[in-house]
Amino acid sequence: MYEVQGVPGHDATVPGMRVICVAGARPNFMKVKPVLDALEARGVETVLVHTEQHYDDAMSAIFFDELGIREPDRSLGVGSASQAEQTARVMTAFEPVVAEVAPDAVLVVGDVNSTMACALVAAKSGCLVGHVEAGLRSRDWSMPEEINRVVTDRVSDFLFATSPDAVENLQAEGYRADQIHLVGNVMVDTLLANLPRAQARGLPKSLDIESGGYALVTLHRPANVDDPATLNPIMAALAEIAQRCPVVFPVHPRTRAQLTAAALGVLLTEPLGYLDFIALEAAARVVLTDSGGVQEETTVLGVPCLTLRDNTERPITVTEGTNRVVGRDPQAVLRATWDVFERPPPARKPALWDGHAGQRIAEVLTAPAAAAQSRLRPTDVTR
Ligand code: UDP
Repeated sequence: MYEVQGVPGHDATVPGMRVICVAGARPNFMKVKPVLDALEARGVETVLVHTEQHYDDAMSAIFFDELGIREPDRSLGVGSASQAEQTARVMTAFEPVVAEVAPDAVLVVGDVNSTMACALVAAKSGCLVGHVEAGLRSRDWSMPEEINRVVTDRVSDFLFATSPDAVENLQAEGYRADQIHLVGNVMVDTLLANLPRAQARGLPKSLDIESGGYALVTLHRPANVDDPATLNPIMAALAEIAQRCPVVFPVHPRTRAQLTAAALGVLLTEPLGYLDFIALEAAARVVLTDSGGVQEETTVLGVPCLTLRDNTERPITVTEGTNRVVGRDPQAVLRATWDVFERPPPARKPALWDGHAGQRIAEVLTAPAAAAQSRLRPTDVTR
């Protein structure tokens, strides 16, 4: 185990400490970058593992390039597969990496299969496990991500929460107070760090749209895109919106496979790079989405967001942001769209969504108390 040198602990560098940071899919890359930077600034040796759950240029390489993330130290090559097969492949490939690197801690981010798979392997190896974005709950067990969230938290020592509602969920599930750290939102760290650069580039010229005058769409949740009986009516609603203003829809690979009827007037594009996408988000009149991260980014940007789901694991974007959960009924989506055109919600920003979450995570991990983190799990606590 590493020893923290110097007093007080928060200013210490920890040259003996080694942390594996795991990223696997698009929404992980913007979350892992601020954590890597903050740990390295404190003298921690980091090992970046890319599981390659997303592996192509549009869903992976462009983010490393645009965000200045170094080449992964290990790439696991797991690729696309069924839920079980992908999880199994990540676990099988990650286990020897943990054995070889012998980290003090493994940090996982978000809620994808790689998050849960690597947390399980790390916990069994006996090293400390930290979950960045702990405690989010949709209470919708049909979402694979919800299972990943709950299982990952369950085997984690450090639970890094973005918002007070996540802290409350963790407390209600019986986690110890000393495991739970309200640190803010690492995705916002990356958004704020890159927004000026993204805006300076301007909107993608090929789209021929004007700032403040278009709707931006992302859809990739299985409940929305796997069944054409659900997706086609949503596309019809988008076509109706396109009669009032341009609609830009960068299509996720999962959605592309199901998109049988391209809606009239909707500008379909390949998935966009991060800088183009956040520039488009920031200047949109409204964003329609089923993404988790996009709900958060629009809140920080003060841009109206309509979430095409029945629930959200990020309720703070509704109570303290610009998000509205509207479901997937096309008429409800249209009503909500016209409504935000008339009455855009006021811009608000949750506490600690300030660009410094990565630093707070590194502070917690390198503090003297971290070395002595108890291996107790919640069920060890008598309630
Ligand atoms: N994003 C992007 N290009 C796109 C669509 C999204 O760079 O074409 C970014 C977006 O800004 C956010 C992240 O991808 O940072 C969200 O990822 P995604 O919606 O795939 O996953 P989720 O947040 O739902 O887990």
